[in-house]
Parts: sequence; structure tokens; C-alpha cells
Amino acid sequence: MRPELLNPLFVPVSNLEGIGPKLTKTLTRLFHGNENAEPARIADLLFHVPHSVIDRRNQPGIANAQEGVVSTFKVIVDSHNAPPRGNRRIPYRINVHDETGEMALVFFRGQSDWLSKSMPVGEIRYVSGKVEWFNGKPNMVHPDHMVSEEGFAQLPLLEPVYPVTAGLSSKIMSRSIRTAVDTLPTMPEWADKNLIAREHWPQFNQAVTRIHNPRDSLDLEPNTPARRRLAHDELLAGQLALALLRLRLRKSSGKARIGTGALTAKLLPLLPFALTGAQERSVTEIADDLAKPERMLRLLQGDVGSGKTIVALMAALSVIEVGNQASLMAPTEILARQHLASLQPLCEQLGVTVELLTGKDKAAKKRETLERLKNGEIDLVIGTHALFQSKVEFKSLGLAIIDEQHRFGVHQRLTLGDKGDATDVLVMTATPIPRTLVLTAYGDMEVSKLDEKPPGRQPIQTNALSSDRIEELIARIYTAVQHGKKIYWICPLVEESEEVQATAAEDRFKDLQSRMGEENIGLVHGRMTVDEKNQAMTDFKEGKTRVLVATTVIEVGVDVPDATIMVIEHAERFGLAQLHQLRGRVGRGSDASHCMLLYYTPLSETAEARLNIMRETEDGFRIAEEDLKLRGEGEVLGTRQSGTPGFNLAQLEHHADILEMARDGAKLFVETNPDLEGEQGEALKILLYLFGQDQAVRLLRAG
Ligand code: ADP
Ligand code: MG
Repeated sequence: MRPELLNPLFVPVSNLEGIGPKLTKTLTRLFHGNENAEPARIADLLFHVPHSVIDRRNQPGIANAQEGVVSTFKVIVDSHNAPPRGNRRIPYRINVHDETGEMALVFFRGQSDWLSKSMPVGEIRYVSGKVEWFNGKPNMVHPDHMVSEEGFAQLPLLEPVYPVTAGLSSKIMSRSIRTAVDTLPTMPEWADKNLIAREHWPQFNQAVTRIHNPRDSLDLEPNTPARRRLAHDELLAGQLALALLRLRLRKSSGKARIGTGALTAKLLPLLPFALTGAQERSVTEIADDLAKPERMLRLLQGDVGSGKTIVALMAALSVIEVGNQASLMAPTEILARQHLASLQPLCEQLGVTVELLTGKDKAAKKRETLERLKNGEIDLVIGTHALFQSKVEFKSLGLAIIDEQHRFGVHQRLTLGDKGDATDVLVMTATPIPRTLVLTAYGDMEVSKLDEKPPGRQPIQTNALSSDRIEELIARIYTAVQHGKKIYWICPLVEESEEVQATAAEDRFKDLQSRMGEENIGLVHGRMTVDEKNQAMTDFKEGKTRVLVATTVIEVGVDVPDATIMVIEHAERFGLAQLHQLRGRVGRGSDASHCMLLYYTPLSETAEARLNIMRETEDGFRIAEEDLKLRGEGEVLGTRQSGTPGFNLAQLEHHADILEMARDGAKLFVETNPDLEGEQGEALKILLYLFGQDQAVRLLRAG
């Protein structure tokens, strides 16, 4: 039961003024990953921190604008440069000036009507936003505010600016957050009092208030006492949840599953390759864990293409050998099907029964699968998170494997153990996360690493290409098509809007069809039905289509070994981890592969740095470290791209020391007060609920 104190914060955002059903969905997608999840609540707003502050006292003049600093300019509008009709890839530009110089305001997919109306030529306007210098010229991409003189007079001098998402104005966001902060009841102190005193941290309520009322941009720095305090709270909640999980797993003894080798030994000669040293080592580590009477909780870390699937199959076979079942869970339907397609032929030869279970199964088929899982007819089930549902029962689930784990949350991992009989858990991740992040996301899990690629792989040649060379690129792609090559064409990432992303993909699809022949081009994006997606993947795999125009739905796991060219359009909009994941779709066979990073200017400094790193290295671990430096850890873990709330307050590149404090604190609490009793225990439960780690509270009762 949720502590009563928190009730006002757990009200859906739809209760706030100005937030109707549509915005509720938008916010739910922003905070909970998808719009059908549990609706966003007021509590979610508390931890949505401003990314900048508009300090309207800061009016440096265009010529003196500092790179990346939010500034305000009083300008005169000179002219509008609308992109050529129908070409929505070229940004809309508005040229402005003040006494000191000229500047361009840049809008991607800007709406001409609205822009020409709100920014009439010859008028005075106040614009605020971050200035980026490009080739010695200042640009402001998507200004935060553009107002008339009268409008400006009504604005506060200091105003926090929040990250927003399509369909949501910063005004409504700010107002809602203000209400959320006003609603916040006084929280008890859950952290160690000595720690708070030593670090001179404010109380939780004060810290939240301060974060949302910055007095200048220094207040947004990651190392203010308020921010450090909140980062600690967030990390403590996560570490505590993991510590409780571990405690419970340790208490509930496991089962020794000593594989006979009957199936695994038969599998090896069926494979067209020999296992790499790293694969062999991982297989042994897993088999040893399975054979132990304790429960296994192991992480298999391996870069894209390192061959995790076969290791997973070996693990599954080991438990099937002793008469148990195994499950393999993938983050998407496409991926689940793909696992099925690659594993079924092998399993058939071994006499192992495999079945697919997804949310999209027809009712009758699903019922049958559930029945067969329950009576043990199915040895290995492959599926999506449908596998988590409570009606899924196993006869004897010995091993649960989760692929591409970064897409799932901690609480989902927590529920897994409940499915079977002392089920062992193997988590596979393709994101080579740095050590500190392993700790945050997984706690002290055992780790197996696939740090060696299968032999015969050729390096992927990566080039960055400016968009003005797109015609040249398309000509090259056409030649490649005629030579029978297979090409992925990835369409721009559009922040938070699957719909716009789908439209961009459709545009490019039609464009390429008209240039290269309809039959050659396929399309896959998130707005298509599962059947359509599968068909598109199959056509591409079988070579019916040669170019697959796709959005990031293919980011994870998709395996078409003879696809050797990848074009990533608007590469400057993607994060490093994501570029690396995408690029991993090629270079999976023995043919030389190419990756073209097509970028549009103006290119920010970080974007340029990202593209350079991509050109320099294919080493996922190095890329992950660089990514951590360039951005925040939420994105390294892939939480942002999937939309799952990861860390809102903690930034590990700044707060690594706090992570250690949180880990040590959590450990101590669990050792001294494992049932979270008494005043501090109650306070800690409040903390867990507040940060969405309440599944851990349920563990307390389950004992
Ligand atoms: P990932 O780790 O990204 O999930 P996969 O398991 O999909 O990688 O493997 C990528 C490709 O490499 C697959 O086509 C697979 O058959 C192949 N592969 C796996 N192990 C080996 C190996 N030891 N030698 C050669 N090819 C391998
Ligand atoms: Mg994989």
C-alpha cells in the first residue's frame, strides 16, 4: 500500500488545469515510455528538471553571444527563407539583426504560416534561446521564445525552461510543474542524517523547490547541493530496490541444474561456425552458475554482432536437458520473431519444442500456447513482454533470458523470478555500458563479456557526408542495388514523435521508389501493423526488396547478414549509443560494409564530436565511455530513446561519488533493517514509492 502522504502526488496529470486527455497521453509517453502505460502522475513532473534558465537580464547583443548560453536579443526581423516547396528537410530560416550583428533563426519543419505571421519583416521582436556559432555565424535553432515588445514586458526576468515534447508548450509544462511543486507534502528525512549534515544538503522539499526556481544558470549545474541531494535520493531508491531484490534472491535458494550436455553437444556440430573463445568462456560461466544451488543472476554483455544469441541457446539447452523450460524475452515483436526464425531450425534438429508468445497472438492460438506452457509441452518460449503477464504459467521455468535488457525496467526484472521454480536469470545487453553504469542498472550482478567478434568480420567503413551530397549518395546506392547489395536507409530521429518519424520515412520511401523502381524499396516504421512490419523484414531478408527504408524500429537486434550498407539520415540528431546500435545492423557477414552518416548543417559541436567518434572507432566500450562524457547516463542506457524514465536527476559523469554513497547506504539499510521498519524504514518506503521503485516494497512482504 502506498503511503498516504504521497496520495496528492499520485494523481494523474489530467487533474491539472490545461491538461486534457490528449496532453495526458503526451506526458505519459514522455514519462512512462508509451502512451498506453499507466498515466503520468503529478509526481513525475517533480523530477522533470529544467534544462536551462532564461535570464532575461542577459542581453549580450548578437555579436557577443556565447556559444550554448541561453540569451535574449532584441532584434529586427529582416527576411524569411522558406525551404523550397515540399522539401521539408531543409530548415526554415529567419534572418534578424541588432546593432551589433546578424543572426539566423533556424526551424526544422517550421510552419511557414505561423512563422510569417508571428515574425513579420521589419518588426521588433525579443528572441531567447541558445546560440550556436557555425562558420563564424550565429544561429539559433528553435528559439525558446519569440515575443513582441508588449509580450516581453509581461515575461518574468528569470524563467526555468523545461524539455518539452511535441504537442506540449513550455508554458503548460512550466505551469503544471509549478502546481506539482506546490502540491508536494513535507517529506520525512530518509537519508542518513550524518550524510546530510556532512554534505550540507538541504531537505528534500527545499531541494525540489530550488531546482524549479533557479536564481541563475549556476543553479542548474549538476553539483549544487540541491541537485546532489536529489541525485542521491534517486540513486538511493534504485540501489535500495536492487539490494532488496538481491537479499530476496539470496534467501530463496535456487536449484542446481547440472546440464547433461546431451543437447549442447549435439548443437555444436549443427552450427556453421565454431564458437569464439569469448563465447565458450561465457557458456562455461553460465553453465557453472546453473549447476550451483544458488540462483543465477548474470549479465551477458556483448557488443552488437558479438553472437549473444547462440550463447543464450546453449544456456537454454542446459536447463532443457534437465527437464526444465526456458524463456527468451525480446524487447520488440520483430526481434522475437527473428530469434524464433534463427533458433527454430536448430531446435527442430535437436527435438526441442519452441513456441512464440506475443501480445499480438490470436486468442485461440494464445490459449493453446499458454496451455502447452503450463503442461510443459513447450521447452523454449520466445516472446515479448507478454511473457511477464500473470496468466503466463510454466510447468517448470528453469531459466529466464532477457535480451536487449536496457529496454526493460528494474521492476520488470523483479517480477521475473516469480514465474518459476527458483528460476535462474540471464540478462543480455548489447549496450557495452561502463562499469559504473553496470552497477547502477544491475547492482552487483555477475558479468560475462563477449569481447571478441566472430572471425572473418570486416571492419565497417564509416563516412560522414554533408546533405548537399545526397544526390551523389543516392546514385551510389542505386549502383549498389544493381550489384545486388542490400541497404538500410535510416530516417531521421524525430524527438518524441513516432508519427512525424513515420511520415519522414514514408516520404523517403516514395522518393527512393521513384528513383530506383518501386519493387526494390521496402519500408518499416513504428506506425505499421506487426504483420506489415514482419512482411517488410521478410521481403528484405529474402532479397525481394534491396533497400529497406526504416526508422529506429530496427535499432535493436535485427539480423540480415548480407545487408552491407547503411545510410543514416540526419545522423547529427542521433546519440552515440544509438548510432552504434544502428551501425551494428551491418558488418554481420563476411562482406565489407559501409555506413554513411548523412548530416545536415548547422552542426553543433557535440554532434560533430559524435560523428567523429563514429568514424574513428567500432569499439562499443570506447563509444560508451565517450558517450558518457558527451551526454548523460540516461541516454547511454538507452532509456531516453525508449522513453522509459531512467535517471532524471542523477548524472553519473558528475555524481559517481554519490552513486557510491547511495550503494553503501542501501547496503547498510538492508543489513540493519531488512524489513524497513520504524521511522526511517517508513521514510525509505516513501522514497521507493516516490521514485517508482515500489515493486521492491512488495518484495518486503513476499519475504
Ligand atoms: P548479437 O550479439 O548482436 O545478438 P547475434 O547473436 O545476432 O549477435 O550474432 C550475429 C551474427 O553472428 C549471427 O548471424 C550469428 O549467426 C553469427 N555468429 C554468432 N557466433 C558466431 C561465431 N562464433 N562465428 C561466426 N559467426 C557467428
Ligand atoms: Mg541479439
